[in-house]
Amino acid sequence: MSTVFHKIVSGEIPCYKIYEDDDFLAFLDINPKCDGHTLLIPKTPAKWVWDVEKYTEYFEVARKIVRHYQKVTGNDLVVMKVVGVDVPYAHIHILPYDENYGRGRSTLTPEKAHQIMKKFSMIN
Ligand code: AMP
Repeated sequence: MSTVFHKIVSGEIPCYKIYEDDDFLAFLDINPKCDGHTLLIPKTPAKWVWDVEKYTEYFEVARKIVRHYQKVTGNDLVVMKVVGVDVPYAHIHILPYDENYGRGRSTLTPEKAHQIMKKFSMIN
């Protein structure tokens, strides 16, 4: 089964990249719950987080992103969630807590995405 995240990994669908290495990719969620709402996925397809081959490395990368977000926001509360109801391709939600958290989702416009990327992206 091909999901939207398979297509993001293959480059068929664009995304706003936050972090990338040989094994993992992180990008902005298109319907964010807060500024910097990020999804971290493995490049090798896995259905659930628990199926990810390099599981330990996966969570090390999640921590690296969380540490970066703590630094750029000045807030050490960064929420991490695993849901998977909508997209059956392993992904970790990383949500830097802010005043919009819990107020529902917004739509990520290109302007807003570029503004957020300036603050949150780990790609130079
Ligand atoms: P869930 O599977 O319930 O953890 O949610 C899947 C998440 O993927 C939701 O927060 C969606 O907004 C997000 N999402 C779906 N399609 C895309 C996309 N093309 N780019 C970025 N995020 C997406």
